[in-house]
Amino acid sequence: MPDLPAHVRVAIVGAGFAGLATAIRLTQEGEDDFVVLERAHEVGGVWRENRYPGAACDVESRLYELDAAPNPDWSRRFAGGEEIGAYLRGLVGDFELGPHLALGTELEAARWDEDAARWRLDTSRGALTADVLVAAPGALAEPRLPDLPGLDTFEGPAFHTAQWDESVDLDGQRVAVIGTGASAIQVVPGIQPRVGRLTLYQRTPAWVIPRRDKALSPRVRRLLRRVPLVRKALRGSLYVHHEALGFVFRHVSLARVAGHVLGLHLRRQVKDPALRETLRPDDTLGCRRVLLSDDYYPALTQPNVEVVAGGAVEVRPGGVVGADGVERPADVVVFATGFYATEFPFAEHLVGADGRTLGEVWGASPKAHLGTTVAGFPNLFVLQGPNTGLGHSSVLLMAEAQIEHLVNALAFLDRPDVAAVEPRPEAQAAFVADVDAQMERTVWLSGCESWYLDETGRNAALWPGGVGAFRRRVGPFDESEYRLHPAPAPVHA
Ligand code: NAP
Repeated sequence: MPDLPAHVRVAIVGAGFAGLATAIRLTQEGEDDFVVLERAHEVGGVWRENRYPGAACDVESRLYELDAAPNPDWSRRFAGGEEIGAYLRGLVGDFELGPHLALGTELEAARWDEDAARWRLDTSRGALTADVLVAAPGALAEPRLPDLPGLDTFEGPAFHTAQWDESVDLDGQRVAVIGTGASAIQVVPGIQPRVGRLTLYQRTPAWVIPRRDKALSPRVRRLLRRVPLVRKALRGSLYVHHEALGFVFRHVSLARVAGHVLGLHLRRQVKDPALRETLRPDDTLGCRRVLLSDDYYPALTQPNVEVVAGGAVEVRPGGVVGADGVERPADVVVFATGFYATEFPFAEHLVGADGRTLGEVWGASPKAHLGTTVAGFPNLFVLQGPNTGLGHSSVLLMAEAQIEHLVNALAFLDRPDVAAVEPRPEAQAAFVADVDAQMERTVWLSGCESWYLDETGRNAALWPGGVGAFRRRVGPFDESEYRLHPAPAPVHA
């Protein structure tokens, strides 16, 4: 895009899954007056950023694809990161989104102008205005480094999994990996065969369950391409399977029973009793994100790997100190330490009707109506906002419901007398209270610490119910839950 338009009806921020899905949906609705602002020079979101060896989806691809763009050609049950990135880039051509993309354009600030009833955006490539702002920056966009003394003193290469340094040759090197979350369990088997020594600093052992990944043969893919009904049936059965898992997570006693069965994975794959004890999770299954892997435990049993319980406590110029006080030498440090997932860093850049930023309004505990709109921020739609994450299924199903909400809101905004929609504070409060009440009974509040919980201990990341319930609740636009701002009076000369 050579120049930014001066004004658009809809400005979408972020060209990851959610941003592109919004663009596709608007196109399908015949809405042509929109722009997608993306700070990077390529679309893809987390799948552009996370290029570490072994990066892959942990929800089966049949369910981790857009409803509008089914792909019968996934090469594996769980596609790798590169293949997902290619799928996302392919969407641009398939849905002719190119003319709407403003790549290399970072949103610096967005202010709601009450008089003009529109958003005023400042970007790294100039200013524009928009009637509606869709924030789709991704919930896992800002890497989190651990707060360790000496972090800056390390003399070798040190980088986060989401900022993988491809120029560093790991062959034969002593590599320290800090963290044992979803990224770590993929990167560890991804690099273990070629490094000299891998020291894994584990603070809290995670639940790891079988993934059963496998390549899909050309014959299967041909069948899926030729008979869409088979593909749909497979997607439907996966949906039901994941919903059943969600049901377990909503019932702590069921989760405990399931934990006994799924704990066999560790017993089967790790024979050494001491290592098995180190890796055994002591929280209830699902309380922290359940990880899927067939090759993580086997990698940890290899002679070039050591697991240090208690995590890393200090970084020194030549190595990392574990909780046991011992410094183990390292040539390279990999931080698999996650993201600012409940802080929503983009919120600092959005200024609402009363002059406060969304970050200030949210404080330590972000809340939104239907996880999507926020009182005081007219015509703002936050995709994958508070309480829209999942611990049991594909988040794309959630983003699609939020986009339906947006599309239904836009139909209201077509009315000449309505300039903006804003959730009523009491409707938002009632929604949040309902979410919190449902959350009470779930495994996520069963007593473990996790990145799902914000500073106040509230689960701000996840939706506590099933995906179907979310889609039914969030998809429609209920006028009674919104304040409709009248159109500004025309200015006469
Ligand atoms: P994460 O789940 O937040 O894990 C961060 C890890 O760093 C935790 O194990 C944490 O330990 C550990 N840590 C922090 N400081 C430490 C220290 N001083 N010593 C040792 N360990 C330390 O981050 P992530 O693995 O990047 O995953 C984040 C989310 O990204 C996932 O839950 C998932 O939603 C998404 N993801 C998805 C896929 C996929 O396949 N689709 C792949 C990767 C990531 P504690 O547990 O003790 O805090």
